[in-house]
This record gives sequence, C-alpha cells and structure tokens, in this order.
Amino acid sequence: MATILDGKKISQEIKRVLADEVRLLKEDNIVPGLAVVLVGENPASRVYVRNKRKSCAEVGIRGFDHNLSEATPQNELEALIDKLNGDANVHGILVQLPLPSHIDEASILLRIDPAKDVDGFHPVNMGLLVSGLPGFRPCTPSGIMTMLDSIGYNLSGKHAVVVGRSKIVGKPAALMLLERHATVTICHSRTEDLPGIVRSADVVVAAVGRPQFIKGDWIKPGAVVIDVGINRTGDGQLVGDVDFEGAVKNAYAITPVPGGVGPMTIAMLLKNTVDAAKKHRSAGT
Ligand code: NDP
Repeated sequence: MATILDGKKISQEIKRVLADEVRLLKEDNIVPGLAVVLVGENPASRVYVRNKRKSCAEVGIRGFDHNLSEATPQNELEALIDKLNGDANVHGILVQLPLPSHIDEASILLRIDPAKDVDGFHPVNMGLLVSGLPGFRPCTPSGIMTMLDSIGYNLSGKHAVVVGRSKIVGKPAALMLLERHATVTICHSRTEDLPGIVRSADVVVAAVGRPQFIKGDWIKPGAVVIDVGINRTGDGQLVGDVDFEGAVKNAYAITPVPGGVGPMTIAMLLKNTVDAAKKHRSAGT
C-alpha cells in the first residue's frame, strides 16, 4: 500500500513552526511583509493569490495587496516594483504569473530586488541555485524536496526523472535533486520513449500540465511519484499529471492532487518570506 504524501498535513506543520518564528520576529519589532502583485483578471491566478494571502494571515505575515487592472502599462508596474523594493516593511515581493501579454515578464522579474525575490525566479537566485550557493529557491521544487524529506527518502544514487523543463518547476527541481546526489534525467516534449525512461525512475516528478498524462503502468514498483500538475477536467474536477489510480498500485509513495504539492508551494513561499525578514534583522544588527 503506497504512502500518500499528504501535502496539506506537512504544510500545516511548517506553518505552525513559521507562526512561532513570526512571533519571535515581532518581539524584535519586525513584522514579515509580503507584497502580492496581481495584474488582470486571470481566474486561476485570482484563486492562487487569494490562497497565498489567506496563508500569510494564518502565520502572521503582513500582506500588502496590489490588484492592478489588465491594462496596466509596463512602466506603471515597474514603478510599483521600484517602490516595493525600497519599502522596508516589505520583505518579499511576489508578482503572480502569467502577466498580460503586453508586459515584458522577464524584465519585471529582473527588476525585483533579489533579496526580496521570495519566488526565487530572479536570474541571481537561479544562478545561486546552479552554483550551489544559498539563495531563495523556487517554492514548488522546495516543496517537493520537503515532501521527500518527510519520508526520509535518501536520493543519493537514485534515478530521478523530471518530466517538464519549465523555469519555475522542471529545471529548478532537477537541479535540487542533483544537489542531493540523484542521477537526474529531464524529459520534455521532444523526448523519445518517455514511457521507457519513466519506467526506469526511482523518483518521478511530473510537471507537464496535461491531465493524467503519466500512466500507472509507467511507474516502476517501489518508485516515489510527485505530481505537480493541476488540471481542471471538463466536469470541473481537479486532477494531476499522473493517473493516480493506476500509479498508486505500483508506487512506494505518491502525492495526491489536490492536497499534495499545491499546499507545499504556498508553505515554501511563506518560509522564504520569513527567511527574508530574518536576513533583514541580521543585516540591521
Ligand atoms: P509549462 O507549461 O511551463 O511546462 C510544461 C513542460 O511539460 C514543458 O517543459 C513541456 O516541454 C513539457 N511537456 C509538454 N508536453 C509534453 C509531452 N507530451 N511529453 C513530455 N513533456 C511534455 O508548465 P509548468 O512547469 O509551469 O507547470 C506544469 C504543471 O504544474 C501545470 O499543470 C501547472 O498548473 C502545475 N503547477 C503546479 C504548481 C503547484 O504548486 N502544485 C506550481 C506550478 C505549476 P517543452 O519544454 O518541450 O515544451
């Protein structure tokens, strides 16, 4: 019987620890602050932002909400980022992606002060990850690593297969698995014989964005399956990138969707924000 990696439960425990840390920071008159910038009306983004704001409140992080209209010009968004970079009450800045198509996303991400880049998408933080140096790690891959740690999984020498090579999930997840001495294969839309490669995996990370794309019989008996995907089916159901019912029969451990990687991503965002506030305190003393 596979272990279900309960992201909801693990994230609750992380939030409990963070709430204690926030209490201690407040004793030093530091209230961790996260600015959440949402541009436009994308319904999925609105849900994500709402959940992030709610979670901030749960642990005592002060949220600074910036809801901008879809038509916001590039220079206005840049001016807001500059203002937040200079605001001592804001320790973390999150710009919800995707941005409307008239906005140059890369230049907006580049404008965020790397010391406040709690999403970990700034090239400086990406470079620190590649170099194996401390910096903000992207939240979803950090959540994946924390879930693997929750079952004491030793990645050393194991074959980890990451399906997806996005900047926010696949690539950083592969680097973080490599950092822990896994042998890593990154797959994408041009990969040949994907089922064959997945069948050789001790750990599968699915970040494809296609409902139930990874079939149950691709999973090697005893493998750990991390399903990052969040897909809404025609009947409104949320499903992952893995055929859970099939995969759970072979897996040693598997994440559900919903309630797996999703809540972990938010918990890691909160953790990065609290860490940013702690660094601010160290810098001030
Ligand atoms: P992207 O669309 O940016 O990347 C998808 C990746 O999948 C690409 O690298 C693409 O390859 C690859 N891919 C697409 N089709 C195939 C195929 N047929 N065979 C093999 N690889 C394929 O998605 P994200 O990484 O941003 O997100 C992935 C999923 O995770 C989505 O469902 C998203 O909603 C979810 N997500 C969940 C989060 C959470 O907190 N749980 C956080 C972030 C994302 P190529 O590069 O060649 O195009």
